[in-house]
Amino acid sequence: MRVANQSGRLTIVADGVAVDVEQASGCRFSPDPQHIFDRWDEFTAWAATVDSTGGVPVVESELGAPVPRPGQIFAVGVNYADHVEESGLTLPDAPFVFTKFPASIAGPYDTIEHPGGSVDFEVELVAVIGKEARNVPVSQGWDHVAGLTLGQDLSERDLQLSGPPPQQFNLGKSFAGFAPIGPVLVTPDEFDDRDDVEVSTILSGELMQNSRTRHLIFPIPVLVAYLSSILPLRPGDLIFTGTPSGIGFTRDPKRLIGVDDELVSRAEGIGEMRHRFTATDRPHPLTTVSRSTNHV
Ligand code: ZN
Repeated sequence: MRVANQSGRLTIVADGVAVDVEQASGCRFSPDPQHIFDRWDEFTAWAATVDSTGGVPVVESELGAPVPRPGQIFAVGVNYADHVEESGLTLPDAPFVFTKFPASIAGPYDTIEHPGGSVDFEVELVAVIGKEARNVPVSQGWDHVAGLTLGQDLSERDLQLSGPPPQQFNLGKSFAGFAPIGPVLVTPDEFDDRDDVEVSTILSGELMQNSRTRHLIFPIPVLVAYLSSILPLRPGDLIFTGTPSGIGFTRDPKRLIGVDDELVSRAEGIGEMRHRFTATDRPHPLTTVSRSTNHV
């Protein structure tokens, strides 16, 4: 099953058309795409009976984030060996986890404000939780995943890497619009191999990143087990699983995202997102913040 958010409404994409879930279910299910994860098993059982009669065209410009208001967004750093190497780091012994704050979510074709600084791309496969997970063994990790979507872990490196060590990545990766996901959520059964999905980034026509999730150092079931041993994962939470090599910041010369660039992201079996950026007149936050006058 492929699930989308078209015009803010929960939609199933089947046979190339969009079926409105509230209408097709006779109001059994809410039109709010975020609410469905609390009733995921009931929803998938019902969805198996739905046909695409009465569907309407899928309109890219009307697609929003398939998970518009996740309660928690976990993101995993250095989870591909080739990206560990280009970052000058050593293989981690445990997942390196930070957060992208939920207010940074954007849709698959949104225009994103460029905040200045060093904005970089990180294509990632994103796991969406469909059943509460607490102390889940690795063998049952996939049972708690509703589906997979495509994400960009957009990162403003100046803010991400500012401050005394250890730097806190969270704000530099959470500017408004810096967590675009979509264009659809795809259930794991739809993939030839849910553990081996190709992801790529094309920046203004140039292939920058291309890899497969079989190279993840900590695969999705391990991430579910590890995170759920620390705190509950709830329906509708997201896990950005990490990015492969090819990011712009470690290239020589650097290749960062400018306001004239088009950022295209792809994931096999899910689809493509395209993003444009707009300039802002506001100064970068690091240039305007200052200490209390008590400490000058
Ligand atoms: Zn990332």
